[in-house]
Amino acid sequence: MRLIFLGPPGVGKGTQAKQICEHYKIIHLSTGEILRKEIFDKSLVGNEAKTYIDNGNLVPDRLILGIIENRLKENDTQQGYLLDGFPRTISQAEGFQKITLQLKHRLNGVISLTANEEELIKRLIKRGKDSGRSDESPEIIRHRQKVYWTQTAPLLEYYTQEKILKKVDGLGNITDITKRILETIS
Ligand code: ADP
Repeated sequence: MRLIFLGPPGVGKGTQAKQICEHYKIIHLSTGEILRKEIFDKSLVGNEAKTYIDNGNLVPDRLILGIIENRLKENDTQQGYLLDGFPRTISQAEGFQKITLQLKHRLNGVISLTANEEELIKRLIKRGKDSGRSDESPEIIRHRQKVYWTQTAPLLEYYTQEKILKKVDGLGNITDITKRILETIS
């Protein structure tokens, strides 16, 4: 099973990704988490990514595509994976398509989690108080939403044209949303 989760910051991609990965026994690949670990480790990639992340901007596509390509060549991802936070631009989606063609990986679906923007900002501000993340001040949260709508939302159209986009309402309790996602996939 190979899936992509798309959706604005705060919609619950991470929470749902964990449930779905447990269900299908597949690997959860969150590019945000991978980058935060690189920053913590003070690696070359981490040092390059830090300023972008702290300001709520996207890190350069080539950097992300490098991470993903390496990760998808490893053994543990051969049984399947869920991409959470990637792709985030059309160019990343095109790069991803090249990688999957090369690896002969077929995508099963792209799940678009939806919710209204005001609700998301409220959730994120609440989470930001104890997340310890450097990009969760109210100002940066608003900026990340803007980045999503301008740079990532065009992917909804892209995957609609590829006929693999499935929309799921991201409002409600966690278990109900997981059920909705599983029904949509099967
Ligand atoms: P959220 O979904 O809450 O915005 P993430 O943990 O997915 O948070 O991402 C945090 C930050 O990491 C982003 O604001 C961005 O700077 C960087 N990032 C994560 N994934 C990508 C990606 N695919 N392309 C570019 N930047 C990314």
